[in-house]
Amino acid sequence: MKLGRVTTALLFAAILPSGAGPFAADAKLNVVTTTEDLASLAREVGGDRITAEAIAKGYQDPHFVEAKPSFILKLQKADLLIVVGRELEIGWLPPLVTQSRNPKLQPGGIGYLDASLNVRILDVPAGQVTRAMGDVHPQGNPHYWLDPGNGRRIAQNIQKKLAEMSPGDAAYFAGRYADFDRRLAEAEKRWDSQMAPYKGLKIVTYHRSWPNFAERFGLDVVGYIEPRPGIPPSPGHTLDLIREMKRLGVKIMFVEPYFDLKTPNAVARETGARVLVMAPAVGGDKAITDYIKLFDYDISLIVTAIGQAGAK
Ligand SMILES: [Zn+2]
Repeated sequence: MKLGRVTTALLFAAILPSGAGPFAADAKLNVVTTTEDLASLAREVGGDRITAEAIAKGYQDPHFVEAKPSFILKLQKADLLIVVGRELEIGWLPPLVTQSRNPKLQPGGIGYLDASLNVRILDVPAGQVTRAMGDVHPQGNPHYWLDPGNGRRIAQNIQKKLAEMSPGDAAYFAGRYADFDRRLAEAEKRWDSQMAPYKGLKIVTYHRSWPNFAERFGLDVVGYIEPRPGIPPSPGHTLDLIREMKRLGVKIMFVEPYFDLKTPNAVARETGARVLVMAPAVGGDKAITDYIKLFDYDISLIVTAIGQAGAK
């Protein structure tokens, strides 16, 4: 009977410990990441030897993710958890990891990877961090994946971790990494030539999500819609910002897809600047299905807007 055979197979799968017995060849490392960018980079390196799933969606604010019971289930079954770190997920992830009771995933465990360990981190505060400064991260700006050079370093970190967890596949992961590195380098040449005419372009961004992106592509961030990180716009700050944007001739504003457009649109009306809803992550728009497409999308948005606004 057909049904009986399926049931028997399921029973065997449930009884056999993973990584042992006749199913070992099919056993894939179960990777859970906090963001879609990390899941994309994990897939680049892990190929068909892993499954990778993100908790936060790319169109959500990664600082504030609503904890759902389904996330705990995902973490219970995971072999490896990859996090952005630098306190990006501090408001929602720690209780989920604790409640998963998965010993591998606790910080310091074999299955916990902080992707930020050797990447280029900006905005590290020099002195004491106080509440009055807003949502400032003492370990520096956590939006570091928006520099493709950091994407390469993250992929390298993932390669090392996967090889450590699955030594038999180390050569496979190294080959996948080398291929990604080559494709990313090709894409970077394309992005650099697209952005070259706009070196020094002054922009305003809603949140401090873009320092690494701006540094990499030569943009000059001269102000923020938020008066301080994580603090909503205030009338006084908005008026100051409008004055400053007029003085500097700022023509472009980057707004993350999860912020209200009311204030950016009001600033646009006053200054003539254009609002660009930029994707800060893979999945920030339906078209952005992987890490390389993230930059393709954002850079084409910028280039098109500058062409239309005559912003240079
Ligand atoms: Zn932030």
